[in-house]
Amino acid sequence: MKKQLLCTSIALLCLNSINAQALTYISAKAMLDVENGKLIQSPLITIDNGVITSISQNKKPTLTKEDELINLPELTLIPGLMDMHVHLTSDPTVPRSERLGQSVPRMAVKAAYFAKKTLEAGFTTVRNVGAEGYSVIAVRDGINAGDIVGSRIWAAGPSLGITGGHCDNNRLPPELKYTSSGVADGPWAARVKVRENIKYGANAIKFCATGGVFSKGTKVGVQQYSFEEMKAIVDEAHMRDLPVAAHAHGTSGIKTAIKAGVDSVEHASFLDDEAIALAKKHGTWLSMDIYNTEYTLSFGEQNGVDEENLNKERQVSKKQRDSFSRAVKAGVNMVFGTDAAIYPHGDNAKQFSRMVEFGMTELQAIQASTINSAKLLKMDGQLGQIKTGFAADIIAVKGNPLKNNCSFSSRSHLL
Ligand SMILES: [Zn+2]
Repeated sequence: MKKQLLCTSIALLCLNSINAQALTYISAKAMLDVENGKLIQSPLITIDNGVITSISQNKKPTLTKEDELINLPELTLIPGLMDMHVHLTSDPTVPRSERLGQSVPRMAVKAAYFAKKTLEAGFTTVRNVGAEGYSVIAVRDGINAGDIVGSRIWAAGPSLGITGGHCDNNRLPPELKYTSSGVADGPWAARVKVRENIKYGANAIKFCATGGVFSKGTKVGVQQYSFEEMKAIVDEAHMRDLPVAAHAHGTSGIKTAIKAGVDSVEHASFLDDEAIALAKKHGTWLSMDIYNTEYTLSFGEQNGVDEENLNKERQVSKKQRDSFSRAVKAGVNMVFGTDAAIYPHGDNAKQFSRMVEFGMTELQAIQASTINSAKLLKMDGQLGQIKTGFAADIIAVKGNPLKNNCSFSSRSHLL
């Protein structure tokens, strides 16, 4: 029987305090120290303007009229969860043929809707790795400005890729001469595309190093960008202080991306021993989406996924999970990335039980989605832990998250 870990939750997010003078207190049954894997009993957390200012135990606050106390005597607090691979503009239940006709503004509306859904599922931070037309950048800015409610977003602009590759759109006839907005061939063209994405607000960069499951006419295991192109993208992005994510299923593409210096390899399906050793040596994060295969193989056909793509998913499915087990065993850096959009947004936490089933401890799975993801984003001084000085991104779960016995609660409470 599959283990059930981390069934979130009640999302508590303190991004904008309405009254700057007021304090918010949270008391709970327990709180997880994710760094040390210890449960702290009866915590009282003080929050001032969205930041944790103190944590004490077995204390009651003295409240002023404006202060608020959130008392959760039966729940355990854990840091807000982080998913490093989502696509907020896409909906798996909408057939690809229909998506072809979607405008960028319509995609932005979808992304706003799914950002709220993702937050309510306990994911207070996500990295959106690729969207057309800067749509998710606009949603991110709307959330940051307090116009709409949703997860914190790190947004890559359009994904970079070669002409005809996984990050191009190969579903339209040649006479329409359509090219996806992130396509750039050659090192300098790729650098220009990085600069363009940054110009329009990207705070992460994503490129396609190999073919992929859901594109038309690409071989999933075959490399697409050359080393020189990948190196140019990484150098340019790092010079501007942005993390780089490489989509890579095939072994040679994974190795080349690691050698080029990417911060994370997405999917990482076909790992051999050398690729695992390289990831360890370079400290590269692997972001392995090992849950969504079940959704695609169960519902893909009814959602209109083409046979070509279902067939590629069958090739990847077990291999990727085997690779995950070997990478965990070898001690490679791992973050939590699910490719939300391949399965319905809001189900992100379903991947935790698979990560435990395929080799992680419960604590490691939670760390992948908290402190490790914060490190990847270079936000480990502010996000990923319940600690004084950190953002008060806190969620509450039933039961002990280290013992697999928590249960879902659909209630959500947004501050
Ligand atoms: Zn993806």
